[in-house]
Amino acid sequence: MNKELYKLPDLPYAYDALEPYISKETMVLHHDKHHLAYINGANSALEKIWKSREENTEIDYKSVLRTLAFNAGGHLLHEIFWKILAPKDSGKNQPMGEILKQIEKDFKSFERFKTEFSETAKSVEGSGWAALAFHKDHGNLAIIQIEKHNVNLYPEQKILLCLDVWEHAYYVDYKNDRPKFIENWWNLVNWDEAGRRMSL
Ligand code: MN
Repeated sequence: MNKELYKLPDLPYAYDALEPYISKETMVLHHDKHHLAYINGANSALEKIWKSREENTEIDYKSVLRTLAFNAGGHLLHEIFWKILAPKDSGKNQPMGEILKQIEKDFKSFERFKTEFSETAKSVEGSGWAALAFHKDHGNLAIIQIEKHNVNLYPEQKILLCLDVWEHAYYVDYKNDRPKFIENWWNLVNWDEAGRRMSL
């Protein structure tokens, strides 16, 4: 069994690279504190499970597995979230190629997709995410609304794009104006990476 623990990945750009839409302060807190906390949470749940196996003892599976799902979900979504962002004017912020074709096929138009995705993100109750997933078996795209980091997900969803609308993602920069954060976030989407994920 592979007993490797989760590790905090470096950001693929500088902390201030997403300004003016996401500040350096937000990125430092979000990556160094919040993302790290999910990694630590997931790792401690894993260690609890491994230790109980070693010692042949029982643990509260319901509670430990719930903690693991929440924290590992948080880690994995953040890992995608950093990668699918790119600084404004990086040349990666225009949807193109296969993913654009697929979006236009499944959502009728890019504008329609953008509206649906934005509304999904705006209407998350409390903390959660909007995500674009590709269903390989059906060959189509779907928007999903993830509550917390792990609720509403089901198997076979490959996430191409995700938008964090937990307050920690925008409160420093936008206070309670989540819609403004969402509007500005579109300037930062790394469509190269989203397209690459679809082709995997
Ligand atoms: Mn977050």
